[in-house]
Amino acid sequence: MAKTYLIIGSGPAGITAAESIRNMDNDAEITVISEERVPMFYRPRIPEYSVGKISIEGIMVKKKDFYVQKRINLHLGIKATKLDKENRIIETSEGNKYGYDKLLIATGITPLEPKFPGSRIEGVFTMHDLVQAERMKGFVKDAKQVVVVGGGLLGMDMAEEFKAIGLNVTFIVRRDILGDPFFDEYGCKLIHDEFKTMGVEVITNTEVYAFEDMNNRLTTVYTKDGKRFDSDVCFIAIGATHAVDWLKGSSLKIENGVLVDKYLRSHDDDIFSAGNAAQIMDTVFKKYITQTNWINAIAQGNIAGNNMAGRELMKYETTSTYFKRIGTLFFNLLGTGNLQVEGGKRDYFKGGNPKEYIMITMKEGRIIGAVVCGRNKITSKLKEAIEKQREISVPDKLITQEEKSVDDLSKIF
Ligand SMILES: Cc1cc2nc3c(=O)[nH]c(=O)nc-3n(C[C@H](O)[C@H](O)[C@H](O)COP(=O)(O)OP(=O)(O)OC[C@H]3O[C@@H](n4cnc5c(N)ncnc54)[C@H](O)[C@@H]3O)c2cc1C
Repeated sequence: MAKTYLIIGSGPAGITAAESIRNMDNDAEITVISEERVPMFYRPRIPEYSVGKISIEGIMVKKKDFYVQKRINLHLGIKATKLDKENRIIETSEGNKYGYDKLLIATGITPLEPKFPGSRIEGVFTMHDLVQAERMKGFVKDAKQVVVVGGGLLGMDMAEEFKAIGLNVTFIVRRDILGDPFFDEYGCKLIHDEFKTMGVEVITNTEVYAFEDMNNRLTTVYTKDGKRFDSDVCFIAIGATHAVDWLKGSSLKIENGVLVDKYLRSHDDDIFSAGNAAQIMDTVFKKYITQTNWINAIAQGNIAGNNMAGRELMKYETTSTYFKRIGTLFFNLLGTGNLQVEGGKRDYFKGGNPKEYIMITMKEGRIIGAVVCGRNKITSKLKEAIEKQREISVPDKLITQEEKSVDDLSKIF
């Protein structure tokens, strides 16, 4: 009899898993249910879409007939509200029930909602889906002044996009410098200078305190140090939480996300999790982490799908790879990226121009993380060295030389 596969979430993890199941099991009954109202799209381009720079077609990932061809039942605009593990049933916001033989939880993350006074007034935004992006698109048409709150990767994206469409942008950041803690000191300085060159006003070491409105429309943003900023739009990116709250009470093991083993399987053999919703065991640090990026969501979806449908279980041992473009800077954050690790030693290697460099963190003769800027070719080698925890012997010349070059580093691999 055909097996029933149920996937919750239509992002890269969920849809890649569905495709992988179909490739393994031609008879499978595959259903994806998702709160999203449109089929899978390239979420990293939402910032561009939300300011009207690209069309909806520009962010769609799959061809229109993909779901028909792969015989995937896609049920959109539906929220999973409860898991009944004993009876193998998912309940939904519509009051419907979906049964399964194998279940995948790929519900991703949701942005933290601001709790400052006035944060519900019109013109204050967070962003994760196309509904929010659509609303933003309408708003920015008439806007002149924008305040971006939160110096994370998403905040940077939006500050850049607002500036690109000609708005005056004030960027409010809690830390001492933009880019911290994702990037190393040198990278942070490059990023800071990049935003200055764009003409974005960056204000560090402060936080938003409150908003003011006129007829429920944003007019002013106040910071804790007593400053006020006129503003038509305020975009807030102060973090995100794993979208797994609905699983509470199901007895599935959850910390931040769904705890899974190296096969992306939860403690229930028939329930898997992948992408931003899953908490995986980090191969280097041997502790649970989540990888919140596109490339890893695809890789996890692929393995989860295989393991749900395949005969032979595949291990997921891929290190985190976050690709980020900021203005004219092209970064790859590998493994722990910039994480300061006890006993870890950081080293810099310079490229041909100031916007090219590699920072690696080594511990006990092994690379555990790297920030690569402007040098794409070496990325896959570094990634492999981290994943395999290969011992690297750095020649004396590289240790003693003050200015180390990327080319010398490349020769080690
Ligand atoms: C604005 C933005 C910019 C980004 N930029 C980058 C970037 O530059 N580089 C990069 O590598 N990554 C970037 N990311 C992160 C990347 O998009 C995510 O890591 C990736 O989409 C995660 O895939 P996923 O399948 O795990 O989850 P998601 O893509 O979040 O998909 C989860 C799906 O589950 C649905 N869902 C949630 N809860 C329920 C429920 N209870 N019932 C039913 N459905 C539910 C959601 O509606 C959603 O469709 C960005 C993310 C955002 C939001």
